[in-house]
Amino acid sequence: MRFETRSVHVGVDKDRTFNSCITPIYPSSTFYWDDLRTNRGFDYTRSGNPTRRALEENIASLEGGIDCWATCTGMAAITATLHLFRPGDHIIAGNDIYGGTYRLFADYFAPMGLEFSFVDMVDPGNVRNAVRPNTRCIWIETPSNPLLRLTDIAAVVEIAREAGAVTVADNTFLSPYLQRPFEFGVDIVVHSTTKYLNGHSDVVGGCIVTRHEEHAQRIREVCNALGLGCSPFDAWLVLRGVKTLAPRMEVHQRNAMAIAEMLQEHPNVERVYYPGLKSHPQYELAQRQQRGPGAMLSFDVRGGRSEAERVLTRTKLFALAESLGGVESLIEYPETMSHASMTPEARRKAGISEKTLRVSVGIENVDDLIDDLRQALQW
Ligand SMILES: *Cc1c(COP(=O)(O)O)cnc(C)c1O
Repeated sequence: MRFETRSVHVGVDKDRTFNSCITPIYPSSTFYWDDLRTNRGFDYTRSGNPTRRALEENIASLEGGIDCWATCTGMAAITATLHLFRPGDHIIAGNDIYGGTYRLFADYFAPMGLEFSFVDMVDPGNVRNAVRPNTRCIWIETPSNPLLRLTDIAAVVEIAREAGAVTVADNTFLSPYLQRPFEFGVDIVVHSTTKYLNGHSDVVGGCIVTRHEEHAQRIREVCNALGLGCSPFDAWLVLRGVKTLAPRMEVHQRNAMAIAEMLQEHPNVERVYYPGLKSHPQYELAQRQQRGPGAMLSFDVRGGRSEAERVLTRTKLFALAESLGGVESLIEYPETMSHASMTPEARRKAGISEKTLRVSVGIENVDDLIDDLRQALQW
């Protein structure tokens, strides 16, 4: 079955009693045993739940993995994955990874004895130079946030293999519809399902997809031991969302492309960051490793902070909010919102300026979206 068909059907059929068309929500915390040795596959919802399992089977199929575990947040998925490693292990990650991931690594796992190097991953040479004898993991997040810088997944996987390290890819920004890291040899994929997989801004969740039995087993044990699984109701919501992933992504990125082209021509826009534009420094890489450019883009307004603020407060359809991947378009200011936890120097170093705005393009009518940005950019 092809991607769109799998997203509608895989895992969904869980009701043998009434043959319901959609997966029932099984809120039951516990499940009766038939005798001392037999249950029907589930005993306690922290360790496994039929509704959650439906979602896990579905996402595992979309990414091309052998197993998946659905967690209560994206951060919980990342927390679980880090438990594959031990104090003294070294992990290489991008210096522009998601802020919450950076905080988790630097403020929580580093004090527990994991070692981290944060490098600019646009150049795989920096990754190679950071490898140490105790390097056990290379953490990939591509495209990056908010400047849509890409990591060459295949090149980094090769470096990891030579080093004997595991590769993990946070595939949140593109979803398995537009990028499948397993096809480039990545070992583990994580998601914040809060974003495109659910797609409707009404749940927070995450997942870990594995392709090696040893990882699948360990992740299962860790999620059970730490109690990271998502609620049956949240799993049901994400499963509902994921069925429309393919058509949503098509509209999201078609709209994003049209907006990027409009912004690129606009006199009050200095620069557009979008991997679908030929002007993107890694356009070729995007063509090679992504099935499309996605629907996140950033741009620098001409001027400074006051011009940026003007745009941010003047849009009517683009609501001022963090997060991304929902059907509704959002606009935000990395300087004081999504990237406020970075120091101003770190932001400048990462290329985020006072005139940088980030947009999550929704699936509204593209002419309405363009009209909205045009009127906000007029001065
Ligand atoms: C949102 C996000 C996360 C964290 O997910 P939550 O569901 O908010 O816990 C991790 N990585 C990326 C790339 C994200 O966008």
